[in-house]
Amino acid sequence: MATVAINIATGTFQQEEIIVGIDLGTTNSLVAYVHPDSRQPVAINDQGRGSIVPSVVHFPADGSDPLIGTEAREYLLTDPQRTIYSVKRLLGKSYGDLNAHADQLGYKVIDDNSEGLVKIRVGDRFYSPIELSADILKELRARAEHALKTPVNRAVITVPAYFNDSQRQATRDAGRLAGLEVLRIVNEPTAAALAYGIGLDPDEEKTVAVYDLGGGTFDVSILRIQQGIFEVLSTHGDTYLGGDDMDRVVAEHWTSAFQLPAAFRSDPHLQQQLRLAAEMAKKYLSQHTDFTTHLTDQTGQNITVTLTRAQFNDLIRPLVERTIAACRQAVQDAGLGNEGKGVGGFKGEDLAKGNPSHPPTLSPSYPKLDAVLLVGGSTRVPLVYDAVSAFFGQPANNSLNPDEVVALGAAIQADILAGNRRDVLLLDVTPLTLGIETLGGLLDPIIPRNSKIPTKAGRQYTTSVDGQVNLKIGVYQGERDQVSQNRKLGEFILSGIPAMPAGLPKVDVNFLLNADGILQVEAIELRSNTRQQVEIKPQYGLTDDQVEQMLMDSLVNAKDDVAARLLIEARTAAEQLLYQVNNFVRKNRPHLTEEELTATEAQAEKVRAALAGTERDPILKSMDELDELTRPYAERVMNISIQQAMAGKKIS
Ligand code: AMP
Repeated sequence: MATVAINIATGTFQQEEIIVGIDLGTTNSLVAYVHPDSRQPVAINDQGRGSIVPSVVHFPADGSDPLIGTEAREYLLTDPQRTIYSVKRLLGKSYGDLNAHADQLGYKVIDDNSEGLVKIRVGDRFYSPIELSADILKELRARAEHALKTPVNRAVITVPAYFNDSQRQATRDAGRLAGLEVLRIVNEPTAAALAYGIGLDPDEEKTVAVYDLGGGTFDVSILRIQQGIFEVLSTHGDTYLGGDDMDRVVAEHWTSAFQLPAAFRSDPHLQQQLRLAAEMAKKYLSQHTDFTTHLTDQTGQNITVTLTRAQFNDLIRPLVERTIAACRQAVQDAGLGNEGKGVGGFKGEDLAKGNPSHPPTLSPSYPKLDAVLLVGGSTRVPLVYDAVSAFFGQPANNSLNPDEVVALGAAIQADILAGNRRDVLLLDVTPLTLGIETLGGLLDPIIPRNSKIPTKAGRQYTTSVDGQVNLKIGVYQGERDQVSQNRKLGEFILSGIPAMPAGLPKVDVNFLLNADGILQVEAIELRSNTRQQVEIKPQYGLTDDQVEQMLMDSLVNAKDDVAARLLIEARTAAEQLLYQVNNFVRKNRPHLTEEELTATEAQAEKVRAALAGTERDPILKSMDELDELTRPYAERVMNISIQQAMAGKKIS
C-alpha cells in the first residue's frame, strides 16, 4: 500500500512511510491516512469492523491485557470500576480542575490533594490519563498497521481548540507512549476545515464556523484562514452537552409517558436497555418520522414505546438552543457580530414554530462567513442541522461523514508534513521544543517543536516551599523529559518575590520566539509585579545533524522517558504531600488524638519507604492511603477554626 522509491545513489529500495492522522475523541476515536494512489484521505476500517473505535479501556480482573474499543464498552455496565471511558476529559488536568465532575464517573479518580495531575485507580494499580490514552492510540496504531500492512511510527493528533498547554502536552506524551512520533498537535476545527479543502490554497482568505456536537461534548469555533495560517478567532461550548443528553431526555420522556416500572430507574440492565432504545430512536428519527419499539421489563413482559420526530424535536429543543446561544457568543467574540443585535437570524421562536429551515425574514444581519462546517455524530439530527443553518443564514456543510471529518483532516495535515503536497506553504518552524525546568528536573515544554515562528506562549507557575523569595528559571531545548538530557540554553533568577506560603505566588513565564529564532523569556510575579527578562539564541551552535540526533534520541528513549517522568511526578507529589501533612500536624497537634498522630506518622513512614524505592504504584498507593487517613482530620480542624472565628463575633 505504501509507495516504494529507489535510492539511485545506493540502489536500495526505500519505503515511503505513511503518516497517519488521529482523532482521539472523548467518546470515539479514529485513524485515517491519505491514500498514496488516489491522494484522498480515507478513514481506516480494519477487517470490516468499522472505522470508529470507542474510547474505552477495560482492565480484566484476571490481570490479562486490557481490552480497547467495542469489546471494552461491553463492560461499562457489568464492571464499571475496571472500565475507563471519557478519559480525554481528564487529560492534563489536576483534581482541582475536575471539581464535582469526578463523582459522575463510574471509576475512581484519585485526589492526592496536590496540584499534580489526576490518576485513576483500578484495583491496586494506578493509571494516568496519559497511559490510558496511549492504550487507545496503540489500538489505533495496530489497526492502521494491520490494514496498511506497513509499520506506522508517525502521526498527527487532533485536540479541541480550547485545550490548554498541559492538555496538549499530555496528548503528545500519550502519542509517544504509544510509540508514535507526534509530528503535530492540530486543532479539531482546523482539521475539519482541511478535510473540506479549506486552507489548502495559500492565496485564499476565508472565515468559517465549525460546529461540533458529539456524544458528550459540544464546541463551536470561528476560524480565519489566511496564507495557510489557521487562526482560532473564538471558541465556545459546553464540555457536558451532546448526543448522550438527547438519549437521556428521550428515556425520561418514555419513563413518564409510558409509566415504565420503577426497575427501569434502578436496575442497571433495564437502564441500559432503555438508554440503547432511546439512542436507537434518535438515530432512526434522523431519517424517518415515526419510531416504535418494545422494551422488556423485569418480568419478561413487553412494553411498546413510540416517538415521533415532532415529539423528539420538542424534547431536545432546549439542548439545541443552548448550542445556538454558544454560537451567538462565538460570533460576537470573533468580532463578526453586530454588537449582538440581530446577529444571526435564528431566535428561539423560529425553532418553536417548528419551521426553522426557513431563515427568518427580519433582521437578517448574519455573520459574514464563507462556510459553516458540521462535525460530530449528533449533527445528523435534522433539528440541529436546521437550527445551525438558520442561525448562520446559510446551509451548513455536511457532505463529509461527520464522525470521520476530523480524522480525515488530520490525515491531510500529516500528508502536508510528509512533504507530499508541495503546493501547500509550510511556514518556518522551530526544530526543537523549548521549555523550562520544573520540580524534579523535568522539562516543561512551552513552545513545542514544529511550532511556526514567530510565536509566543506562556504558562503560570508557583513556588513549592513556604516563604520562597527567589525562583530559578532554567531554559532548555530538546525533546527528552528530563532537563539533564536536553540542551541548556540559559538560566536566570526571578528575585524579590515577597515571602508567601507555597503555592500562593503566581509567576507567569512567557516565551517570545521571533522570526530570527531569538527567544525572549520573561518572568513576572503577578501579585507583586516583580519581573525579569533575558534574551537567548536557542538555535545557536546546533547543526542539522545534532538536531536530528536529539530527535532520534528522544524517539529511542520515549518509553523510558515517559516512565521516568511519571515516576518523578509521583515522587514530587509525594514529597509535597509529606510536606503538607507535616505542616498540618505541627500546627494542629492539640486538636489531634495520640492514635491519630501515631497513625499519621506510620502512614507517612510508608510513603517515605515507598519513596526510597523505584516503583510508582506503591508511592501512589501509600499517598492515597495517607490522604484518605488525614482528610477527616483536616475537615474537623477546619470546623474547629471556623467555630473559633465565629465565637465572640456578633451578627448584627
Ligand atoms: P461522536 O462523539 O462525534 O462520535 O458522536 C457520537 C454521537 O452521535 C452519539 O451520541 C450518537 O448517538 C450520535 N449519532 C450517531 N449517529 C447518529 C444519527 N444518525 N442521528 C443522530 N445522532 C447520531
